[in-house]
Amino acid sequence: MDKQLLTIATSKVQKTWNLTDQQAERASVLVEAVKPFASQERFPDSFHVKSSSRSIIYVINLGTLTCQCEDWKKHNQEGQETKHICKHIISAFIYRQYHVEVEKQAQSQPWQTQFDVWVNRAGLTPQTTTH
Ligand SMILES: [Zn+2]
Repeated sequence: MDKQLLTIATSKVQKTWNLTDQQAERASVLVEAVKPFASQERFPDSFHVKSSSRSIIYVINLGTLTCQCEDWKKHNQEGQETKHICKHIISAFIYRQYHVEVEKQAQSQPWQTQFDVWVNRAGLTPQTTTH
């Protein structure tokens, strides 16, 4: 992951959710463990996040702000108005924002750079044609 874009994404999420530096930091290191659902089109708000301490994978929904971890269960009761968001939810928000930033950066670059990025992503080797 691009460190600079990750920092931008983290600070945007931090502002949006009014998070402390510590909350943002703890979630930021988890971003690498975030994966979107395989059927991203059907479940755009759903993500998996691997637990940092145990080999457990939590399912997160950014639409309903839910997570399966103990921290979330402890701080959220039924009918509670304001949801407590755990570090997994925050990390999924950062993950999503990170990809928005990647897209933005690609679009702001000149055509030749965009082409190079595309070639890179596709794993191709640019070749010079000799006539
Ligand atoms: Zn959680």
